[in-house]
Amino acid sequence: MILVLDEGTSSTRALLFDGTGQIHGIAQREIENRYPQPGWVEQDASEIWEATFAVAQEMVAKAGGAEVIDGIGITNQRETVVAWDPETGEPLAPAIVWQDRRTADACAALCKAGHEAEVQARTGLLLDPYFSATKMRWLIDNVPKVANCRQLAFGTIDSWLLFKLTGRHVTDASNASRTLLMDLEQVRWDEGLCDLFGILPRFLPEIVPMCGDLGETTLFGASIPVTGSVGDQQAATIGQGCLMPGATKATFGTGLFALASTGQERPSSQHRLLSTLLLDDGKHRLFALEGSVFVAGSLVQWLRDMAGLVNTADETEALARSVSDNGGVTIIPAFTGLGAPHWRPDVTGSVHGLTFGVTRAHLVRAALEAVTMSCRDLAEAFSADGAAWESLRVDGGMIANDWLAQDLADMLGLTVERPSNVESTARGAAMLAAAGAGLFEGIGEAVAAMLPVFVSFEPAGDRKARTGRISQWENVLGRALAP
Ligand code: ADP
Repeated sequence: MILVLDEGTSSTRALLFDGTGQIHGIAQREIENRYPQPGWVEQDASEIWEATFAVAQEMVAKAGGAEVIDGIGITNQRETVVAWDPETGEPLAPAIVWQDRRTADACAALCKAGHEAEVQARTGLLLDPYFSATKMRWLIDNVPKVANCRQLAFGTIDSWLLFKLTGRHVTDASNASRTLLMDLEQVRWDEGLCDLFGILPRFLPEIVPMCGDLGETTLFGASIPVTGSVGDQQAATIGQGCLMPGATKATFGTGLFALASTGQERPSSQHRLLSTLLLDDGKHRLFALEGSVFVAGSLVQWLRDMAGLVNTADETEALARSVSDNGGVTIIPAFTGLGAPHWRPDVTGSVHGLTFGVTRAHLVRAALEAVTMSCRDLAEAFSADGAAWESLRVDGGMIANDWLAQDLADMLGLTVERPSNVESTARGAAMLAAAGAGLFEGIGEAVAAMLPVFVSFEPAGDRKARTGRISQWENVLGRALAP
């Protein structure tokens, strides 16, 4: 049995996998997001740990005790920063979540000073508040407890959970590749970048491979080795079996993240996509091209919790089907700026095309369509970078929506494959942890043994409607992006 700890943005979960990829139990707790100022998103790192530990305990009990667990695999929301005191094990400030835009001005200043090309060349990333380094710097500059802590430890959520479980201050290479501080070629902290962002390397965790011996925990009665750790999007890519160059997956969770493996070749985007580490098992490295869109399922959450247009996320499917088109409505979902391929932290969201004929169903349909069109913008950028998608494997909570899955196939003109079980993120972590625990020869064997079956959505729909939708979207988006 493999115990997976899947710490996402809206909830944290523990899952039990066996070596065939079957899931034997899931426990889940919500994680509270706080929005203390416009553009700010915070979480409580203690709450993250306590909730994760509680769901893990539930699953250890369900498995029949720690003795039957071969390894723990961790997967997590990436880029979110925790600062803690390793002596007390206590966080020193609220965790700054990946969606947080408070360092937009700091990033703009670094861009203006001409640093982006070099940062992109070394890290594969862009100067955007999304990534960890400027969030760390913000904590040093604004939280005296952080600035004055002698033994300060910084880390992303993997690092925080690994510390709480094993006492080691380490981070896996996939998470490290999202900080703006790691040299993507060498897979080590880059002194020049640490200088640029003002982060002392001694505050940072040691970078370790994504599977193997990552430490041991004795918190569950008997000792359990931690044998896998991987950022959520890399985990989903592995969990969908997308290791070969060109294989692409898109996850529709809180945000939308598309990754295409480029194999052993480090990609270099000319169209504002990111290069990232897909796999480092201590022997081999694989890279990926990534497009990150900040808003997908969170738009549906907003429809439910803020706009009050639906009571549950599921209702969006029937509502979208109840109308034949969007009624002329376009929603630009720039709630936290726009991510790939635009990277405009300054743009805010908008609803365009309101007339008296517009109903709640049109608005809901336009919201789902905005997610499809954001994905199409990514597909275009990948294609322009020479990494056109040939088919697409999808997952994430939002893709339970069949209307959306079909709309993606129609608008992308591609076969969209959805696994029978959409837990790709947890599955990828389970595959790594199983390989790391020695249950398989390597990650390739683990993927082959644990991959689920897929359901396909084939492109259909009429061409005229498709071109009409594309030009409506491009027109409204162009206006939103205008200075
Ligand atoms: P994360 O891992 O980022 O926390 P999940 O993968 O669990 O997110 O996906 C949850 C998101 O999916 C929520 O934002 C929710 O609004 C959305 N969602 C869930 N079910 C549906 C549905 N049937 N239709 C549309 N959106 C949905």
